[in-house]
Amino acid sequence: MSTARELLERTGSHPVVSLYVDLDPSQFATAPARASQVRSLLDEAQRDGRLDRDRLSHKDRTALTADLERLKQYLGSDEPPVSGARALAVFCSGQDDVFEAVALAQPTPPRAVIATTPFVEPLVAGPAEGRTAVVLISRRSGRILVGGLRDLQEAEDVSDQVHGQHARGGLSQLNYERSIEADVQHHLRNVAEEIYRTWQREPFSRLVVGGTAQDVDEFASELHNDLRPSLVADRLDLDAETASVADVSKALAPLLARVRAAAKESALAELENRLGAGGRAARGVQDTLEALNERRVETLLLAHNFATPGVRCPSCGLLYAEGTASCPADGAKTTVVDDLREAAVEAAVMQDAGVMILGEGSDPAPPALHRGGGIAALLRF
Ligand SMILES: [Zn+2]
Repeated sequence: MSTARELLERTGSHPVVSLYVDLDPSQFATAPARASQVRSLLDEAQRDGRLDRDRLSHKDRTALTADLERLKQYLGSDEPPVSGARALAVFCSGQDDVFEAVALAQPTPPRAVIATTPFVEPLVAGPAEGRTAVVLISRRSGRILVGGLRDLQEAEDVSDQVHGQHARGGLSQLNYERSIEADVQHHLRNVAEEIYRTWQREPFSRLVVGGTAQDVDEFASELHNDLRPSLVADRLDLDAETASVADVSKALAPLLARVRAAAKESALAELENRLGAGGRAARGVQDTLEALNERRVETLLLAHNFATPGVRCPSCGLLYAEGTASCPADGAKTTVVDDLREAAVEAAVMQDAGVMILGEGSDPAPPALHRGGGIAALLRF
């Protein structure tokens, strides 16, 4: 289960502090710099009035004060897992027995939120990162690395004996070269078989190959057909034998950014296609909420600037468009949700749907979403 879903399941009635800390090394490399960022974020969160402190029970209020103190101490220490991360998310609720720190590979705007549910959008937004496999291939070595961008690990090293055996065997130069080529072929096939076995043991969503253009091309032609859909066209231009894991992660970052951008484009195109064909898609507040309520959502698509009020049924938890006075399912009087954005994201997470935020900065929403007021969904059925 995802961390976000687990957090949502463990909370809901007591205050939870969600804190996103910027770890930009040029500004926040040291613990004191992080501590001062955290202090101002928490001050801001306490002022924003999302949680009416006066309405909290005495126990919740005391616990919240302790939570804030605990966060300040934790983030001022050397304890948080900040190495290599671009942002850190921390969720804390003493009352719900939650204290969870998550290192994020993507830069994330700093923010603190105090509410009865954790603010999970930055954790889940974006095309699913998934497991990535990297093969660094040369004519005699094949290194396999697997994991996420931040925790890529060297998993296998397939080095084959490629030359040397025949050099003094009295073979003609031509035969010698042929036998080397045969050895290289054999080696590339070995590595291709090994990465296929790796995938069978635990599938990855993306395969990236690094090395010289020629080696990468030859290797790619040996890959099992099942792996082709996940093969990323761009090659990592690295020395296959000497590149460090850090070199690989660094080379991978811009490539994955392009992959993510392409995934967003194709999600929007898919939305238009499906809507045009009258199939598995919803657009607009009403239709998307209905799909979320029926747990049919595969990917929730939100414009970066989507914010709109709505209502929720306190009895069954279903969400409805603004102005729905009573729940169509059970007749209960609905309560106002100031911003449907988080409620929609939470509902998506609870049905294991993906969440994609599209557009950025002061740009208008992408046209495919703008037409639906900034919200749409690709559906499972
Ligand atoms: Zn209801």
